[in-house]
Amino acid sequence: MSIENELKKIEEYAKENHVPIMEKEGITFLTDYIQKHSIKTILEIGSAIGYSAIKMALLDPEIQVVTIERDEERYKEALKNRKIFHLEKQITLLYQDAFDVELNDQFDLIFIDAAKSQYVKFFEKFKKNLKKDGVIISDNLNFHGYTHQKERIQSKNLRQLVGKIRNYIQFLEENEEFETTFFDIGDGIGVSKRR
Ligand code: SAM
Repeated sequence: MSIENELKKIEEYAKENHVPIMEKEGITFLTDYIQKHSIKTILEIGSAIGYSAIKMALLDPEIQVVTIERDEERYKEALKNRKIFHLEKQITLLYQDAFDVELNDQFDLIFIDAAKSQYVKFFEKFKKNLKKDGVIISDNLNFHGYTHQKERIQSKNLRQLVGKIRNYIQFLEENEEFETTFFDIGDGIGVSKRR
């Protein structure tokens, strides 16, 4: 099995089936961050078909990823993909709505990549699962460039969604417990650490 070929197949499947997976720049930032900071335990909200979880787990056999997905078809595809890479021991896939998941474990990294409208709630719910020196990384803060041009958006739904992402950015900027650094990389990434 060629790892590169199998990853390419997942990328192609995502494209053909309109599954949003992390952009190349964003995933490179994330995996570099994990390696640089020797991160070993990761909680991911939003597995989709397992692409980012697989990319993270492949970095080091000691890395453990718990990842949550509520869409059945995507979850099943993620199970298949995990098997292709023989990562059953490193990746735990939870088929659940993240808001119904109760975990007691503490993680080095929490990666939020699920419903954009719920980011504040995900952050508030899962921060208790973050180790003292852990980091919360959020993706899609530029939302395909829309975040900075909300007024020009025609669709009401899209405008509301962009408004929620802006709220999340404000929530991070004003957060007294966490300090966030924003990176204009991929689709916009926030890295939040306890103050
Ligand atoms: N992290 C993946 C990657 O880069 O390979 C992409 C994740 S995709 C952007 C977001 C996923 O989050 C979707 O598949 C969606 O079904 C899932 N999702 C959204 N809200 C969720 C929730 N409340 N609980 C669990 N999964 C959720």
